Amino acid sequence: MTRSHLFDADPTRPATDAEALLVEDIRRRRRLVWQIMLSGIALLAVAAMMLPERATTLVAIALFLAFASVKFLHDLSQCPRCAGRFNRWGLWSSSCGECGLPLRKHPIS
Ligand SMILES: [Zn+2]
Repeated sequence: MTRSHLFDADPTRPATDAEALLVEDIRRRRRLVWQIMLSGIALLAVAAMMLPERATTLVAIALFLAFASVKFLHDLSQCPRCAGRFNRWGLWSSSCGECGLPLRKHPIS
């Protein structure tokens, strides 16, 4: 990524259809991270109550691996506008960490 490329990345410019589709993919990855994290906590609590300790440990390891894999892919998401790391600031960022392209839903024409 070149410095001049960053200057071309205007966050106020409406997203193109291709950018909107890729931002939707980033939103989908983020939802999956939250779903695995929250449902994993509930599933682990149920497993701890109903399963033997060894089985609960295996469930916890499987949930951790699933969460780590999805989070890793989420963190590597590339901004469709500036090609920088979109999720530079983690799960709480509402825009690209490099150019400011918003994560909100973009209308696709
Ligand atoms: Zn960007």
